[in-house]
Amino acid sequence: MSGILVYALHDGEGNFNKNSLGAISEAAKLAGELGGEAAAVVVGKVGDDVGGELGRYGAAKVFRAADVEEGLAQPIVDVMAKLIGEHGYSYALFGGGLLGFEIGAGLTARLAGGVTMEVTEVQAREGKLVALRPVLGDSAIADVAYVGEPGIIIGRLNAFDISESGSGEAEVVDVDVELSEWSTKAKMVTRGEARGEDINIEDADILVGGGRGLGEKDNFKLAEELAEAMGGAVAATRAVVDAGWYPYAAQIGQTGKTVAPKLYLAAGISGAIQHKVGMQNSENILAINKDPNAPIFEFCDLGVVGDLHKIVPKLTEAIRAKKSG
Ligand SMILES: Cc1cc2nc3c(=O)[nH]c(=O)nc-3n(C[C@H](O)[C@H](O)[C@H](O)COP(=O)(O)OP(=O)(O)OC[C@H]3O[C@@H](n4cnc5c(N)ncnc54)[C@H](O)[C@@H]3O)c2cc1C
Repeated sequence: MSGILVYALHDGEGNFNKNSLGAISEAAKLAGELGGEAAAVVVGKVGDDVGGELGRYGAAKVFRAADVEEGLAQPIVDVMAKLIGEHGYSYALFGGGLLGFEIGAGLTARLAGGVTMEVTEVQAREGKLVALRPVLGDSAIADVAYVGEPGIIIGRLNAFDISESGSGEAEVVDVDVELSEWSTKAKMVTRGEARGEDINIEDADILVGGGRGLGEKDNFKLAEELAEAMGGAVAATRAVVDAGWYPYAAQIGQTGKTVAPKLYLAAGISGAIQHKVGMQNSENILAINKDPNAPIFEFCDLGVVGDLHKIVPKLTEAIRAKKSG
């Protein structure tokens, strides 16, 4: 069976991770093209309504391992390896994120499968999946086909769009899994944002990205005020993170996060390739830069040539006035 098994991460309070929902949507679409089914795996305590919740995104089945704790890789490798062994799923798909990387790598080793990481697109070709992943600093794309099964596909964050394409309720199937000895050696003490920063830029619809053009650390308040006025969050380039102007949790790019907000407003950012790869999938990119030859003007949707110190406060003021008016 050319089925696809997807790991669906949740926070224990009924909220599924947006990248997992994207992976389920993508798996449902691909499974349709392959003539198989997309199934989701959830661990921990989740109610029966999970069938309706994940069915909406196209899961035909939800395997629930209620006794397995969410958040640790090895027990989830046990669960997924058992399901692939018993049901013959040809592929496992992950939406990205550190846990997805860890589980995907563990599953590959356990099942002697093939793995592709940082995948930005998956295509069904002649009854098989081909994973597309950027290489050489994102300057080229490699097509990766799998030799044998299972094929493990780990997406780049935000690579897969969420789509409520499912027509109905997914069947919820409870599974009992005997954990491997090594899978019980670690215990979750608390779950939370490990980076120690109260910044969640991946989920923001609007991001104001601040770069070295802000001039100094204190000027990040210009970006923060604008983001607040628009109901968004603040992101940063590596140059300013390295300079200690803003926390690493906000860094976008090759060595930071990948985002795809509805609006990315780049203030004083040159648009280096290593930054671009982390934000180029934004729906709209607006750039403010005083240098008309800045690379960011080559790929933004709207470019404003000018001094951000004059433009940004005026923009913030205008948005506030419009909101209160
Ligand atoms: C291996 C590697 C990995 C990297 N990973 C990342 C990464 O993950 N993320 C990342 O961002 N970078 C990364 N970089 C760094 C990247 O190459 C750039 O150096 C960095 O993105 C530049 O940041 P910046 O745009 O803030 O600064 P700059 O390149 O210095 O650009 C500042 C811009 O501000 C403009 N400006 C100045 N004053 C004003 C003003 N008053 N008003 C308006 N505009 C103004 C300037 O014209 C300029 O275009 C990486 C580099 C390497 C080698």
